Amino acid sequence: MGKASKDKRDIYYRKAKEEGWRARSAFKLLQIDEEFNIFEGVKRVVDLCAAPGSWSQVLSRRLYLPAKSSPDCRDSLPLIVAIDLQPMAPIDGVIQVQGDITNARTAEVVIRHFDGCKADLVVCDGAPDVTGLHDMDEFVQSQLILAALTIVTHVLRVGGKFIAKIFRGKDTSLLYCQLKLFFSHVTFAKPKSSRNSSIEAFAVCENYSPPEGFSEKDLYHLLEKIGSPSGVEDLDCRSGWLEGPNKVYIPFLACGDLNGYDSDRSYPLPNSSEGGCYKSLDPVQPPIAPAYKTALELKKAANHGILEIDKLSLNSDE
Ligand code: SAM
Repeated sequence: MGKASKDKRDIYYRKAKEEGWRARSAFKLLQIDEEFNIFEGVKRVVDLCAAPGSWSQVLSRRLYLPAKSSPDCRDSLPLIVAIDLQPMAPIDGVIQVQGDITNARTAEVVIRHFDGCKADLVVCDGAPDVTGLHDMDEFVQSQLILAALTIVTHVLRVGGKFIAKIFRGKDTSLLYCQLKLFFSHVTFAKPKSSRNSSIEAFAVCENYSPPEGFSEKDLYHLLEKIGSPSGVEDLDCRSGWLEGPNKVYIPFLACGDLNGYDSDRSYPLPNSSEGGCYKSLDPVQPPIAPAYKTALELKKAANHGILEIDKLSLNSDE
């Protein structure tokens, strides 16, 4: 798909470039905030799986930059820590950590940056490389969410919020129950900028309140129990992971201005309707170490290897 064609078919991709966002995902976080007011009172925030950085840009523009320009707040600027496997170009007010969220030590790094204090908000837009096999993608995604939840249990303050990308599938109720163990309010939200054709949605978890006597090292034991019917009564799961008449009903909410842009529609390009010439903008910040670069290098090296082998066999034929 050419750049102009993508601009036409994906209004949020075009708008992201016009407004200076590194990725269209920025609109998802903004639309979640429109509905849930997630930034209210937030001073410390962790952005898990942050590259290329559009959510970190939202955090910087909504929390850091206004505080920096206000004389009253300059001494207590919000702290934003962003983590990803990939390196990211710098963003004003964002501390970047290149690391793996499935590694338990990552939580320690975050706490060190907060001087031992806990976060008010943790967001996670993490996604593994999608295979197109829904069950498989949902499973891998849920593993990533559980890794994020492990970090949450170490770094989030009681009463704090956690926003995580999920893939809707057959285990959505299980995930909902697992999250409900730790948060009094859990809603699955679908921002308007997330395509209807995509199984993606976002868990908006409010009021972190882990079970009494909870110890972080017991997290997986607790989550496993909720997955087995026998564990439910022991745990007094706040929602009940059951089928049939006790089936769990998950609060599901579409968010973002209902009259706003529809991510599944094509929109005419500016100028083109008046017969003018449309110039597509370049991406705001191309990835600085994209995985495809390594792939291209490997392919080049492999091709080179084949050429070398061809040369050798020609020489030996002579
Ligand atoms: N929120 C980002 C933004 O707005 O620019 C986009 C995030 S992108 C959809 C998903 C990211 O998850 C990728 O950058 C990938 O490197 C990261 N990721 C996947 N698994 C990870 C892991 N185990 N630890 C850290 N980052 C991970």
